[in-house]
Amino acid sequence: MTDIITTTGFRTVTARNPATGEVLRKFECATPGQVYQAVDSARAAQKTWAATDVNARKEILHAFIRELHARKSEVAVLISRETGKPLAEALVTEVVVALDAADFLLRELPRFLRPERVGHANPMMKARRSYLLREAYGVVGVISPWNYPFSIPAVDVLNALMCGNGVVLKPSEFTPLIALKLKELFDAAGLPAGLLRVIIGDGLTGASLTQAPPEHLVDKLIFTGSVSTGKRIARAAAENLLPVVLELGGKDPMIVLEDANLETATSAAVWGAFMNAGQTCLSVERCYVHRSLFDNFVKRCVEKTSQLRVRPKDGGEYDVGPLIHAGQADIVDKQVQEAVAAGAKIECGGRRLDELGMNYYTPTVITGINSSLRLMCEETFGPVLPIIPFDNDDEAISMANDSEFGLAASVWTGDLARGEALARRIQAGAVMVNDVITSFGISEAPHGGVKSSGMGRTHGRAGLGEMVRLKYVDADRMGGVAKAWWFGYGDGYLSQMEGFADFMFSSSIIQRLQGGWRSIGAYFRKGRV
Ligand code: NAD
Repeated sequence: MTDIITTTGFRTVTARNPATGEVLRKFECATPGQVYQAVDSARAAQKTWAATDVNARKEILHAFIRELHARKSEVAVLISRETGKPLAEALVTEVVVALDAADFLLRELPRFLRPERVGHANPMMKARRSYLLREAYGVVGVISPWNYPFSIPAVDVLNALMCGNGVVLKPSEFTPLIALKLKELFDAAGLPAGLLRVIIGDGLTGASLTQAPPEHLVDKLIFTGSVSTGKRIARAAAENLLPVVLELGGKDPMIVLEDANLETATSAAVWGAFMNAGQTCLSVERCYVHRSLFDNFVKRCVEKTSQLRVRPKDGGEYDVGPLIHAGQADIVDKQVQEAVAAGAKIECGGRRLDELGMNYYTPTVITGINSSLRLMCEETFGPVLPIIPFDNDDEAISMANDSEFGLAASVWTGDLARGEALARRIQAGAVMVNDVITSFGISEAPHGGVKSSGMGRTHGRAGLGEMVRLKYVDADRMGGVAKAWWFGYGDGYLSQMEGFADFMFSSSIIQRLQGGWRSIGAYFRKGRV
């Protein structure tokens, strides 16, 4: 039996190089029956896997790191071909992020899976041995997008597997080849057969995973993608009370205070907005700059943007590649043109690069934008840097929070304490002071948003926490003694409990001591059932 389901569907998906349009491979979408079968076989394999000890899992992690490290260039080249992103970005933001996540697991997993003692302050509970167990869900479904087609599923799959789960991965229809490469790496690392299944297909294929009959349903779902799909998935999940993590879109603000380093902050804005052609959930999509810096800030951003190399027709080295498909370029262009019609000023860029292909858009710096426009409210997901002035901290925070999204944000300042104080006031899952986007690549940092940016966390210990069910175990060393709160209600019982409440919670020491005596006395006088 193969672990990769790609055949016998009626619809197809096509892996293409978005830079050239070259068809890399066509796949038939997996049928619902094949999706269910993938879940069933992952479930069968998981039973044995869940019983393996941490050391056996760590051996696979070591092997995975060895394999990925040895093949890092081959993997980066494939990522670059299937997404169009520069090779350097494929290496740093995808391969290295996955390696670092695996390395984090090597260190964290034994601690994370060790039973965690629960202590008790209540004297009536002192005789108990209590602890938390972290148990695998069973089969975790991972549905992933195209913009980080390797690092996003790699981290989710690693976390799920290492916590003892089986996994069914449904990658984006735009990037199936990279998902298959990930599977190949796990196979080479010696992952038991059947434990990781990859189903290739489109949104409907994904829906088969989330809307399966209960007996074929995954036990937890980690979804990364758009808000609209996230809502659809949440509705389907509600039907079966399927627990889900939703990692959705963003509209991240960058706040540049008057004491920020102009050179560093402008480089960060340009990288944060144009890296991966702006197709990063954590992209800088709104840049708020103190009015005293504004003109120079815009000028330096324009100068730095003009130095970026958009991918030339014949390939070679470049800084900014194409968008994933023409539809994405349409969204970007419509938002920019709408802003221009409303009076915004294009400082540079602002047009499609049809001479390179339908997917290309020039890195664009834009000012004079009305905050009610789609460019400021909706996710752009393209190479556009809107810059807006502000006059004081309160105004900057209010503009940053004026969004339905809340994935991440950044504050730029020479005064860390001030930056950290502002960070607390921003509604977001992560706020960086003097950096952008990098939190995604910090393995210890939880990743996830608030508001429409989603719920739950991936990455870090919190991300591992999403892959396990918490079980509380409580062993009473005084098992032969009847509990004070059992039947036998009546005056004695009430007196005992009142005394106990006084002993525990009274603000008077005398009342506490009296309550303690009263409670003990009543316990021995109380009738029992
Ligand atoms: P998308 O929502 O179109 O698709 C994501 C995945 O869901 C794909 O695999 C797709 O096939 C699948 N899918 C589509 N419809 C489905 C359905 N009804 N049921 C189940 N699965 C379905 O998103 P996209 O265009 O691939 O990715 C871009 C979006 O992802 C952006 O909004 C971006 O901000 C977001 N994103 C978020 C994060 C994060 O960590 N918060 C990271 C990367 C991307």
